[in-house]
Amino acid sequence: MTLTAFRAEILTVPTDPAQSPDAIQHYPDGLLVVEDGVVIALGHYADLAPRYPDLAPEILPGLLVPGFIDTHIHYPQTERIAAHGEQLLQWLETHIFPAEAAFADRAHADAIAAFFLDELLRNGTTSALVFATVHETSVDALFEAALSRNMRIISGKVLMDLGPPTLRDTPETARSETEALIARWQGRGRLGYAVTPRFVLTSSDAQLAIAGDLVAAHPDVLMHTHMAENPGECAAVLGRFPDARHYIDAYDRFGLVGPRSLFAHCIHMDDGAMGRMGQAGAAISFCPTSNLFLGSGLFDLAHADRFGVKTGLGSDVGAGTSFSLLSTQGEAYKVCQMRGAVLDPFRALYLATAGGARALGLSDRIGGLQVGQEADFILLDPAATPLLARRTAGASLADRLFALQILGDDRAVAQTYIAGKLAHTR
Ligand SMILES: [Zn+2]
Repeated sequence: MTLTAFRAEILTVPTDPAQSPDAIQHYPDGLLVVEDGVVIALGHYADLAPRYPDLAPEILPGLLVPGFIDTHIHYPQTERIAAHGEQLLQWLETHIFPAEAAFADRAHADAIAAFFLDELLRNGTTSALVFATVHETSVDALFEAALSRNMRIISGKVLMDLGPPTLRDTPETARSETEALIARWQGRGRLGYAVTPRFVLTSSDAQLAIAGDLVAAHPDVLMHTHMAENPGECAAVLGRFPDARHYIDAYDRFGLVGPRSLFAHCIHMDDGAMGRMGQAGAAISFCPTSNLFLGSGLFDLAHADRFGVKTGLGSDVGAGTSFSLLSTQGEAYKVCQMRGAVLDPFRALYLATAGGARALGLSDRIGGLQVGQEADFILLDPAATPLLARRTAGASLADRLFALQILGDDRAVAQTYIAGKLAHTR
């Protein structure tokens, strides 16, 4: 039994503040007590300290918040971030597919996986739902690197039998390789598996049906894909499925819309499609920097809220332009402004933490620093830059948090802790 404690200003938003006004937990002088990587107490220092007289807490200067949870990111695209000039389908052809082909090489996959996970930690992201490539070995590389860092990472081999010739699997290998990877990795350490068809257009009907079979056969895995990102993509999906009323029908008919499904983007949705998401208990990853970068459109958070759809934030690197979920919260604010809505800074933090955990079905484990949850947390520095220091001096909590979201990035992440252990220092 290892008991450690941390004394800091602590902020957590374990439930959606849009639903419950008392969701915000703020301890200006707080104490977090961790036993074997799990939170056993969280509260005001003055209240809790007498219960642990023998404990000398580490004093952390800054704002302690739960680690960020990135609900949609592609590790093989790390080196293709900031690739100029295309929208989705052309961007994939020109910039992404050639880069992903290199992940047939295990040594290359290992090198990028290590860099990628360290970059997550540098940005305060402690958990993520991650696209690998079509290659089985790309998943092995990522999971091995995540296991050695004790990170809660969910990933899976990409299914894409209609992909370009260099990145094509078959319905048969999609099944056999996914089964082998689930057997090898699901539930090891803090790892989880996601059946990962790239999107409707890159899989045959036969392969989408196999994806549905795999999800049904493994009640502990997720389903992770993209939906309704780009108007050209949506038109192509309806071209292939002329009897579909909306893009979502193409997934639905193969059993891919359910409570363990997470769809990145969901920008071009109507009431019927969003209603089906809510009814199925499926989740959305809202990826504002990616949607702006590729010119895909403006996600409508209020629309998702209206149908009670679980939503988390995603960086979607390499189309996303930052690994930082602080920056992503700032860009989410701007997208909401373009939609005529105001995103509250505490709700933005919720989306980047407990909201993401809920979208991934991990609310019991991560996202809120509640008793019994895993102690993944970060220390934010509201004075990380001269401008931030000036802007946040003497400011209220809401003001400091918002300034961090608009002005902050990896520079504002002073430390990252995984299961109570220091994993990164700026
Ligand atoms: Zn993506």
